Amino acid sequence: MLASKQSQATARSVRAKEPVMAAALRASAGSAVRPFTVASSAAMHRLGVNTGCVARTPRSGRGRSAVSVVAMSGDGQAVKPVCLVTGASRGIGKAIALALGAQGARVAINYASSAASAEEVAAAVVAAGGEAMVVGANVAKREEIERMFKEVSDKWGRLDVLVNNAGITRDTLMMRMKPEQWDAVIDTNLSGVFYCTQAATKVMGKQRSGRIVNITSVVGLVGNAGQANYAAAKAGVLGLTKTTAREWAPRGITANAVAPGFIASDMTAAIDKKYEEGILKGIPLGRYGQPEEVAGLVRFLALDPAAAYITGQVYNVDGGMVM
Ligand code: NAP
Repeated sequence: MLASKQSQATARSVRAKEPVMAAALRASAGSAVRPFTVASSAAMHRLGVNTGCVARTPRSGRGRSAVSVVAMSGDGQAVKPVCLVTGASRGIGKAIALALGAQGARVAINYASSAASAEEVAAAVVAAGGEAMVVGANVAKREEIERMFKEVSDKWGRLDVLVNNAGITRDTLMMRMKPEQWDAVIDTNLSGVFYCTQAATKVMGKQRSGRIVNITSVVGLVGNAGQANYAAAKAGVLGLTKTTAREWAPRGITANAVAPGFIASDMTAAIDKKYEEGILKGIPLGRYGQPEEVAGLVRFLALDPAAAYITGQVYNVDGGMVM
């Protein structure tokens, strides 16, 4: 008897939610970006769900990946997704740019000072089957961010993916940390992410689709002695990611965060070798990660149709350090 009353109550509650879900699906169906071709996307399209980016069967050829990903323009034409990766001249950002390029995407490669390295990454993106442009801009400066987004928009006219990857460290114990060390890290690693997100969502909001992936750090989850500025900025990025996800979901924009542990790059090469043994002891897989191991997850979140229903989440790529 009790069970039957409960199931009636559940049925009433589900019925009560149906109009809300239907309204959400109808709103999504009005989107300018429509999925097609793969069965799962087609099925979701029938439901009116906007998957943003979709996979289609590729043309064969050198440098082409097994699946290429396309977005749809407002007039229903298939277009190669436009991606902007900040801090893509080296390290993790470079690996992300290459992974997106290998899917056939158009990739804007941002850098702060390494122009020559950024040009090399652009050439590698093209060799991998994508298109590329290089855009120098310091993400700690709002006017440079505005110029960067304008340059991308002037060239490609849309924006499907933003990867907020640029980041710096200025490590020292809190008691010794100077205001300029605090400010430099907060301005680049947190305010830069905010202003890039604001600029990107202006474009994505009009398109009614887009994906944002923020590169945070496990340090933002658990803290780290000597990194008060960095940990605060990376923890801030987590809150910003979830807020972005909530504010922009009605416009078909997803936002997720990837939190690497220790990844082999110039950033970790700067760590004093005397700490290395202790660091490795704290990593169950017993080694540093490779930039490509972060890039694989970013590529999935940024372009894969299967990631369309994922938003506001944080994924660690850390060899099991934090669990
Ligand atoms: P990296 O090798 O030091 O490369 C940093 C990249 O960011 C470079 O392309 C650099 O450009 C760019 N950059 C720095 N400041 C910038 C600014 N103000 N404006 C625009 N671009 C700027 O660093 P990484 O190890 O690849 O780290 C990438 C991201 O992952 C960072 O957000 C970092 O916090 C995060 N992360 C890294 C690790 C790790 O173990 N490596 C762990 C957790 C999180 P230039 O070449 O022009 O200087």
